[in-house]
Amino acid sequence: MNTVEEHKQEKHPLDVVEDVYDYADEQLTFEEIEARAGDGEWERLKWAGMYAQKQEGYFMIRTKAPGGYLTPEQAEVIGECAADYAVAPEEYGGEEQNELWGDAYLDITTRQDIQKHWIRVEDVPEMWERYDEVGLTTIQGCGDSARNVLGCPAAGLGDHECFNAQPVIEAVSDFFTENREYANLPRKFKMTITGCRHDCGQSQINDVGLVPAKKEIDGQHLYGFHARVGGGLSDGPRMGSELDAFIRPEDAVEFCRAVAQAFKELGDRNNRGVCRMRYLVEQMGAEKFEEAVRDRCTVDLPDGGRNLTVGYQGDHVGVHDQKRDGLKYVGFNVIAGRMGGDEFAQAARAAKKYGTEDASIRLATDQNFLITHIPEENVDDLLAEPFAREYSPDPGPFSRGAVGCTGNEFCNYAIIETKKRTKRWARELDERIDVPDDIEAIRMHMSGCSASCAQPQIADIGFRGETVTLDTDDESGIVEGMDFGLGGSLGADNEFLDWVENAVPADAVIPALEQLFEVYSDEREAGEKFYEWTRRVDNERLRGIMQGADAPVARGVAHGD
Ligand code: SF4
Repeated sequence: MNTVEEHKQEKHPLDVVEDVYDYADEQLTFEEIEARAGDGEWERLKWAGMYAQKQEGYFMIRTKAPGGYLTPEQAEVIGECAADYAVAPEEYGGEEQNELWGDAYLDITTRQDIQKHWIRVEDVPEMWERYDEVGLTTIQGCGDSARNVLGCPAAGLGDHECFNAQPVIEAVSDFFTENREYANLPRKFKMTITGCRHDCGQSQINDVGLVPAKKEIDGQHLYGFHARVGGGLSDGPRMGSELDAFIRPEDAVEFCRAVAQAFKELGDRNNRGVCRMRYLVEQMGAEKFEEAVRDRCTVDLPDGGRNLTVGYQGDHVGVHDQKRDGLKYVGFNVIAGRMGGDEFAQAARAAKKYGTEDASIRLATDQNFLITHIPEENVDDLLAEPFAREYSPDPGPFSRGAVGCTGNEFCNYAIIETKKRTKRWARELDERIDVPDDIEAIRMHMSGCSASCAQPQIADIGFRGETVTLDTDDESGIVEGMDFGLGGSLGADNEFLDWVENAVPADAVIPALEQLFEVYSDEREAGEKFYEWTRRVDNERLRGIMQGADAPVARGVAHGD
């Protein structure tokens, strides 16, 4: 059994939630918490949604939003809590802690969560009390248990949807949250559920992905789900395997429970490097894994029906029609997912002011957000709000597709800075590169290390942080850099990107991209997307194009591997 597993056995991880109240009451320091509960407490605190930040004494806290859905009231509380508690201390720069965002900001994540930084343990109970009033939770935001359940951010709006799966998402989320039997799994357990053909909830890269399907049963044509299992990114990325089963919406909770049961019983608890569920599916094979799930499932699972998924078709940025009710929704672009808490609260108030009583805020897996249920006559006023001008629904293509992880500002694993770099690069690239008019977004994803919080493997352009030793005539020393990947996508033509070049110094990336886009614009076939072109051109030539830039890519030595 590995050390983390031992910490999870010493005390049930959910019990840490009660202990947080004591730590807060007594205003314990990190040293005092560790003296009282042992160093395993840092692991268990993840079940409270709290992750020790690299600056000792402070936490990142993660708020779940099943399916990315928030009421305006919930979103307002989240924004206000960021403004009140995510405040950097003077010794770390106070309000000037971050030169782009100051402090008191929040991050929208690729799992439709909200992360806040600089949280002190003594502020957590008060935040939880404010959360309780509007039905929010941070419980199981992190840790080896069922995480936030993903879904389509436009669920229920009728866009390309076979049926609205949000009630199923909420039922699954409710079943697993604070469920002691399934709260301690071999490793984190990620689920996504959608009734939409476009699968923005990314079924292929989750442990369990439920996607729409249709089947005739007893003369009735029923909507339900097909299941993909064992997908994931990070080291050892894998696309989920499709099972031959049809899951009725009312059986989705039991199906997910049976998968969790199989993972709990059969998953590896020794080697954390290979204990994600995708390794179990790979090792057993999809058929045997399906058998294991069927053996543990208390409902009948008919064989599969007709798959209705078309695949990923793009994002939700912009002003769109809600096909079901004639209203509009607006997708705002938040580069790298970061915005001020006060700005998020403003967006929530705008949803209340300009939307109908069904208005909501939806978080998307590309770190953007939507405001829904806006009557057409109110759209201009919504777009005139100060937050709407900063997070424009009509951004340049690089801004629109830019995703960034937390990076070395707060994350213990990070090798490089990511959030500021993602925002600056996206804006600069929009200025410097003329992307063909028919391309709305270039998906550029930056992870600060080889973990995949920014999902670089599914991007047109993906980066993972490295340190680089420069040894050229002009420059020597260690600088920040990145592995440089090209050609990833999800959907019908899903493929992980190729890591085309290793350890590229950060300063060389923009010139290399300019060179690539110049050749792409010259050579592309009609309608060809950037990732499609990079797949058509072999890597040797792509490297040659990058190195032929005005500021050639200086080769370095990777420190990260
Ligand atoms: Fe941290 Fe790496 Fe995840 Fe970025 S990708 S947040 S650096 S663990």
